[in-house]
Amino acid sequence: MIGGGTGDWDVPVGGMGRVSAELERAAREAGAELRTGATVTAVTAGGEVALDSGERLHGRLVLSGVTPAVLQSLLAAGGEETPDAAGISIDDGVIRPEGAQLKVNMLLRRLPRLRDESVDPHAAFAGTFHINETLTQLDAAYATARDGGVPDPLPAEIYCHSLTDPSILGPDLQAEGAQTLTLFGLHVPHRLVAEHGVTREELLAAARRSLDSVLAEPIADCLYTASDGTPCIEARTTADLEDSLGMTGGDIFHGTLSWPWAEDDEPLETPAQRWGVATAFPRVLVCGSGARRGGAVSGIGGHNAAMAAIERLG
Ligand SMILES: Cc1cc2nc3c(=O)[nH]c(=O)nc-3n(C[C@H](O)[C@H](O)[C@H](O)COP(=O)(O)OP(=O)(O)OC[C@H]3O[C@@H](n4cnc5c(N)ncnc54)[C@H](O)[C@@H]3O)c2cc1C
Repeated sequence: MIGGGTGDWDVPVGGMGRVSAELERAAREAGAELRTGATVTAVTAGGEVALDSGERLHGRLVLSGVTPAVLQSLLAAGGEETPDAAGISIDDGVIRPEGAQLKVNMLLRRLPRLRDESVDPHAAFAGTFHINETLTQLDAAYATARDGGVPDPLPAEIYCHSLTDPSILGPDLQAEGAQTLTLFGLHVPHRLVAEHGVTREELLAAARRSLDSVLAEPIADCLYTASDGTPCIEARTTADLEDSLGMTGGDIFHGTLSWPWAEDDEPLETPAQRWGVATAFPRVLVCGSGARRGGAVSGIGGHNAAMAAIERLG
């Protein structure tokens, strides 16, 4: 959306995995050695990285793609003291970021009928479809979540990626008319799950109620059924993201995103500082969404860390 300037959704042909695969191909061709399934257990300021296998790697630079908060704990395990998250001040000094979203993935037999019959579902679902997201509803949802409750109705957005790019489904599912539907629920701060005991099932139920409120039929009637008889719907909470991906607090951006330019008062003495990838330790750089000057799925942090490394190492 950012690059094109038209508001169109641009998606990689073959899905995001295709982007990773191309990066892998380019890296291998350039002589990189890739190691997967290796958990890092500690990092030192001197460029040593310890793996869960017991192996220790040494680099002139360490480029870290984990969240600043995870990097801080890895540096602590390496015996280093950090004033804040690896020297990166996020959320005005708050070290632990907090995500506030729920993700629901669905596979549908067909698109649902809309309550507003004047709108063709294929047109409605082709872009971002906003549900219960008026300013009043967002305000009310924020207040409910702040007080420890699950917003009802849950503000949400849905996307039907298979309408934009049918190639994400196999030929059989395409021929059957199946569609993917993904719901992004808002105002569900991690503390609801982490502190108030709200379950994944409760959040999924709230999301389904919200979605059903704009449909002429329950979404349950449109869900594809897996071969074991279960409906194809899954919810991912902030806790799920923290557990499976190390996204601290389920914050999908590793902390608050920043603008892609330096502020007037920022120190810009080293390449790492200029590219927005510096930590408190000169040999440790951030290369993920926790970098300054951009983040999220943009890859800007990776690009900038590579540029800083090239400038530094020549
Ligand atoms: C549901 C959802 C929807 C999103 N939608 C959008 C969107 O529309 N637009 C957008 O721009 N962004 C979106 N994002 C955010 C975007 O996906 C992330 O910001 C992006 O993936 C961050 O990339 P990254 O490489 O910096 O970090 P990550 O993708 O978090 O990768 C970090 C990697 O480090 C690994 N790791 C963690 N700890 C260790 C360890 N100790 N040892 C070894 N490996 C470790 C993790 O397993 C993970 O693979 C969304 C995210 C989610 C979850």
